[in-house]
Amino acid sequence: MNTPLPPGGTIGIIGGGQLGRMAALAAARLGYRVHVFTPEVDSPTEQVAATATIAAYDDMKALEAFARAVDVVTFEFENIPAASVRLLTSLVPVRPSWKVLEVAQDRISEKRFFNGIGIATAPWAEINSAADLKAGVERIGRPAVLKTTRLGYDGKGQVKITAKTDLDQAWASMDGATAVLEGFIDFAGEVSVIVARGLDGGCATFDPAWNVHTNHILDTTTIPAPISQPLAERAIQVALKAAEALDLVGLLAVEMFVTKAGDVLVNEMAPRPHNSGHWTMDACVTDQFEQFIRAVCGLPLGSPDRHSDAVMTNLIGSDVDKWLDFLKEPGAKLHLYGKAEARSGRKMGHVTRIRPRQD
Ligand code: AMP
Repeated sequence: MNTPLPPGGTIGIIGGGQLGRMAALAAARLGYRVHVFTPEVDSPTEQVAATATIAAYDDMKALEAFARAVDVVTFEFENIPAASVRLLTSLVPVRPSWKVLEVAQDRISEKRFFNGIGIATAPWAEINSAADLKAGVERIGRPAVLKTTRLGYDGKGQVKITAKTDLDQAWASMDGATAVLEGFIDFAGEVSVIVARGLDGGCATFDPAWNVHTNHILDTTTIPAPISQPLAERAIQVALKAAEALDLVGLLAVEMFVTKAGDVLVNEMAPRPHNSGHWTMDACVTDQFEQFIRAVCGLPLGSPDRHSDAVMTNLIGSDVDKWLDFLKEPGAKLHLYGKAEARSGRKMGHVTRIRPRQD
């Protein structure tokens, strides 16, 4: 399918979280139907989708029926098995492609990919044993961070290696999984750039976002980022280069550390809408979710121009209890994800405070 999917078509989304929910809402605005595939009952995406398949990500029968019921497949959750993506790809256009997901599923393949296209990351070493860890720490030094290569997010599967850390214990905490040791970057800050790439290879980037994490979870995103114009340009070029090299169709979020010397080092990427792009819903002509739907459906990309300055704050766990206060606040836009239980550490919604653009 190299022509645009006309409104009225059905977009299959793998994964049922808040990213799928907001993508489904954007799809509905453009006249599409969304069919979500998720193992979770009453998920944030299912609540706003036309159709849902509730099944495991390796349920081949369910995946086949899903593929036959939709016009295009995309992901709001990228950690699904290779065999499942292979099956989907044999039946229906899948955007982005398996190649992109494969690189993004593994921290080591991600770092190899970036280094291979001349983009710097923190120094790193692959770790498969306590001996590897000792050798890695010798080379990279302390402090460092040891992370599982797969399925880690929001700081899960990570330990910091400080002067006092016992390396045997640190390795034991990885439960035998392949890990990556990274030099700890004493950063000036963190930025992310979200790039959309269409079926025709055209790209559109959002302004770099300034991200502050608390307990490894994104807390706030501020736009514009307090960085120089050349550094903002550099961050944008990094994201564009990655999207081109991956032959991406869809959205790519690239998270970077800003070093005190004024350069960027890539931390990780995600081939889908990203928490650090939620501000675009209230501050841009076309937001990241609509841009995602446009790219996946082969439509022309929209203008990513920003009309407002914004600060997005995640509502984690019981933060959401203040929903009524946010609704009363001028300039605040509240977005809730329909999750019944406000467990600690769980992303329940976000609030974006906007004001007219100052620059
Ligand atoms: P990650 O799971 O890799 O996205 O890490 C979550 C957060 O932990 C990052 O956004 C940083 O704030 C912090 N972090 C991760 N890796 C490093 C590192 N190598 N140096 C310094 N901080 C890090």
